[in-house]
Amino acid sequence: MATVTFRFYANLEGFLPSQRRGRAFACACPPRATTRHMIEALGVPHTEVALLLVNGQSVGLDQRLEGEDRVAVYPKFERLDISPISRLHQFPAGIPRFVADAHLGGLARLLRMAGFDTLFDNACADPALAAMARREARILLTRDRDLLKHRAVTHGCYVHTLKPVAQLRELYDRLDLRPSAHPFSLCLNCNAALYEVAREQVLERLPPRVREQQQRFMTCGQCQRLYWEGSHWKRMRVLLASLEDSG
Ligand SMILES: [Zn+2]
Repeated sequence: MATVTFRFYANLEGFLPSQRRGRAFACACPPRATTRHMIEALGVPHTEVALLLVNGQSVGLDQRLEGEDRVAVYPKFERLDISPISRLHQFPAGIPRFVADAHLGGLARLLRMAGFDTLFDNACADPALAAMARREARILLTRDRDLLKHRAVTHGCYVHTLKPVAQLRELYDRLDLRPSAHPFSLCLNCNAALYEVAREQVLERLPPRVREQQQRFMTCGQCQRLYWEGSHWKRMRVLLASLEDSG
């Protein structure tokens, strides 16, 4: 077996056991092992890697490793665009769309609130999620690193944080979502587009207080749920404004 030296940087170290963090370490590689194979065998999903250097050269995930190779593995840099030098796949062009796994229902609703098309069905099995992400060029969101190692997954995001608001902030930073946000354009329940309806058309469906206080209404084309700028909507606006500021 060949011996290859690895060094993982920044938040990729969180996927490693503590004795392998913050330093280079040697590792035995089977013959013809690729960079992807070894990186995932060491615990890091390939979707989290933005730049891969072997002996100082930028390479892809299918590079075969040889004895004495030195491999440096980097996540996305928050304030540095490495796309011109990286040989790895980038996220799909355009406004990102997502599919969230069964444990990220709260995050899925917040993404919809910010206007990002996000599929979520907690009855959906992992292989189906991976296939859907690939078929529709969606970014798969999960806290299950094994799911990201699935063959079918090309674009995925391991979510490090636990609470939905922190998770939304994490994605805003990693994927630079701020310029693409279009708040209150999607139904939080079913991800369908919202459109404005005249007050008179929905009057009989409104609770009395809402009827007195609200003038503007939106409805979902699919589930017909009504939305108005009540206290929940205002709290959401504050949250989204805080994400704008932190960028
Ligand atoms: Zn709906």
